[in-house]
Amino acid sequence: MAPYDIRVYGDPVLRTPAEDVTNIDAALRRLAEDMLETMYEAPGVGLASPQIGVQKRMFVYDINDGKGGFTVVNPRIVERSGEWDYEEGCLSVPGLSWPIIRSARVRLTGWDLDGRELDIEADELLARVFQHETDHLDGMLLIERLDKGQRRQALRTLRNRDIGLSLHQGRAGRA
Ligand code: ZN
Repeated sequence: MAPYDIRVYGDPVLRTPAEDVTNIDAALRRLAEDMLETMYEAPGVGLASPQIGVQKRMFVYDINDGKGGFTVVNPRIVERSGEWDYEEGCLSVPGLSWPIIRSARVRLTGWDLDGRELDIEADELLARVFQHETDHLDGMLLIERLDKGQRRQALRTLRNRDIGLSLHQGRAGRA
């Protein structure tokens, strides 16, 4: 079983900007391990700490290129260029995805779990993951990256799903 439950749309923790990590220590490395395990189990290619209810600026990722899972602490996107349209989903908005245009290339800085400075140039899928995860750390979900029409449709779908869920829970409560 995954060490953490993934928080889903509607949970206020997903709307709250995370705070900078001030100490890279054993507890943080343990948290990163648990986040990777949770991400692999989901399965996903990235996971930011607010998605497990922790307000620290860090995320984990593995785009399945055989290089393994990585952690970035206090990530910042310092450069971006180009545009790339890609069908994007989110573990916190399960079962839905949309074509979203974001930067094709980004440069990300931050720290690894040994306290070494990172400076990574990424394109396409990796660049997408970096933008998606840093959005999470700023309290932003991919729904806010949709155009007006897509967003209206998405919110309607999510609202109907909420109603379905509470009806279901109501029935369970009466049983
Ligand atoms: Zn997400």
